Amino acid sequence: MYISTFMQRKDFLRIAAGLTIMSSLSSFKRFADELGEQDQVMPVVFIGHGSPMNGIEDNEFSKHWKEAAQKMPTPKAVIVISAHWLTHGTKVTAMDHPKTIHDFGGFPKELFAVQYPAPGDAQLALETKQLIKSTDVGLDHDWGLDHGTWTVVRHMYPDAKIPVLQLSIDYSKPASYHYELAKELAALRKKGVLLIGSGNMVHNLRMVAWDKMDVPNYGYDWAIEMHELFKKKILDGDHKALVNYESLSKSAMLAIPTPDHYYPLMYILGLQKKNEEPIFFNDKLVAGSLNMTSVRFG
Ligand code: ZN
Repeated sequence: MYISTFMQRKDFLRIAAGLTIMSSLSSFKRFADELGEQDQVMPVVFIGHGSPMNGIEDNEFSKHWKEAAQKMPTPKAVIVISAHWLTHGTKVTAMDHPKTIHDFGGFPKELFAVQYPAPGDAQLALETKQLIKSTDVGLDHDWGLDHGTWTVVRHMYPDAKIPVLQLSIDYSKPASYHYELAKELAALRKKGVLLIGSGNMVHNLRMVAWDKMDVPNYGYDWAIEMHELFKKKILDGDHKALVNYESLSKSAMLAIPTPDHYYPLMYILGLQKKNEEPIFFNDKLVAGSLNMTSVRFG
């Protein structure tokens, strides 16, 4: 009777009759897809986005973003939780054509010239709002795609044909809130939606060693400590320790002086299923006080 809520009984019988002569599994899969449910659960991924320049550079990080997309099923839509959209309350972009936001200064003209014209998906925005019961999610028509999103997604899906939405981070709330909120989004994974958290685990811009930008995998002692500790806790599945990150180590406050770039990880951990092992990539430190470590589940 699940199906009967989607169509007239007469149509259901007609399709059911048709099903008996559908011999291949792929035909059945297409039928199931039309109902919005898929047998496949989409992965979830946290991406360390680092410098906005990664958006136009063909470097080891952007190359691995592209590869990560190629290794995953093609999504029907992408929802990004970006470190660069901090709001009071939670919002989801609901416009048909989200604008490309150049939310940075002091970078070359060619970076400001980038447009990523992926469509939005108002229906998916509404479904996302309806899925989240713990708070009233606002449908947003002002934001768009900030650089936490487009610098990454344009490498993953260069055609800009797949709808891309953003879900904001309610910055008045603690890590545990974001971790729990993420669980309410789990159903989207079964609908072909790729959820991406875009931030950085180790992110201290005040302490960047500008003269060490080109030294591969360069990290301060405290950054190396936290870089390894985050990975260990992720491997152990110790979400509690990661949510209570302030208590992880004295070095935590140096790695996360403000939690904007860390909170996107909370969403991806909240969406991780029990049997899903982490797959790390771009596992590098940069300029002393940043890391690019990214992790996929599923
Ligand atoms: Zn950033």
